[in-house]
Amino acid sequence: MHRIELDKTYRLRKKVLIGACGLLSIIGIFLGFFNLLKIEASPVLAIFELIYSLLSLLLMFRALNDRHQIWEVHLYVYGLTALIIFAIYIADLTSFRFCWALVVPILFFLILGKKSATIPTCILLVFSLFDISVKSAVMFSSMIVNFTCSYLMVWIVSYVYETNRENSERELQELALLDPLTQSYNRLALAKQFQKMSTKPNMSMYMLMLDLDYFKEINDSYGHETGDIILKECAAKISLIANHHCTFRIGGEEFCVIVETKELAQALALAESIRQQISQREFNFADQILSITLSIGVAKFETDMTLSHVLSEADAQLYKAKHLGRNRVVYKQ
Ligand code: GH3
Ligand code: MG
Ligand code: MG
Repeated sequence: MHRIELDKTYRLRKKVLIGACGLLSIIGIFLGFFNLLKIEASPVLAIFELIYSLLSLLLMFRALNDRHQIWEVHLYVYGLTALIIFAIYIADLTSFRFCWALVVPILFFLILGKKSATIPTCILLVFSLFDISVKSAVMFSSMIVNFTCSYLMVWIVSYVYETNRENSERELQELALLDPLTQSYNRLALAKQFQKMSTKPNMSMYMLMLDLDYFKEINDSYGHETGDIILKECAAKISLIANHHCTFRIGGEEFCVIVETKELAQALALAESIRQQISQREFNFADQILSITLSIGVAKFETDMTLSHVLSEADAQLYKAKHLGRNRVVYKQ
């Protein structure tokens, strides 16, 4: 099945990971050989840097092929944290190795998101402060104050940026999945929801296809605007009965409801309840009382069925309901 991907966060994190791995593998090789060749430098650090640069390359290729796992990314971030801590620990303050600690929080936030980035960011801050205060032998040296302020600045900016980015992505996703007239979920949302549910093991569900009866006559007799109001109210009622997250507007006056149940009787009872409540609803327009009915076709989801397969099955039942006189629920055993 074609994967419906609205998740920009995943793509952003993957791109940042690939970029970071590429850059860190080059820096790791450069610093590794530099530290190996320099007489007073640590060969242990050089070896760690070279190993880390190889791991960076490996993870970069895995991410390029979409095969990277979340635990590998966490391991990679904690590995970088450990490497920086070790590099800071074995050097004296004049090497300025703690500058590296200022660069990585933004990387952690972009790669892991704000929740998971907090722990390595905290670890690095605590260790750097401890290291600086031990080596400078003064509890509140200007170095500590400057380092803490700059680190917190980077942390806050990364946090605020990531929070705003996540919020605007969530809002855009909601907009892309909602029908502007009725505020019901749309066909794209249905495809996403179906993809999620149909891949669950032992999933059992029914699909209801609902179509308002003689809706064209409402438009023709009372105008399109009246039709829109009735459509919106019907959508709200269906959402209320069937749950907003399971109701989708899939056409002009057609809706679809997913019922997650093993029991046919439960799906039919829900369909019957929607039918009855809509038919009992009265709409007042210019001293006139209008009412409307709807017909419902019901289909069972069987393993390996595609969305269009279940929809066409439900549509066939809806077609029968229309031919049998409308205002009814039909299910083929
Ligand atoms: P049936 O009982 O066979 O379903 O009859 P019907 O009149 O409902 O079916 P038909 O498919 O002939 O007409 C559907 C009508 O729904 C046609 C179109 O004008 C109306 N419609 C579709 N989308 C909207 C909308 O967004 N607003 C309004 N007001 N009307 C719409
Ligand atoms: Mg209709
Ligand atoms: Mg129709």
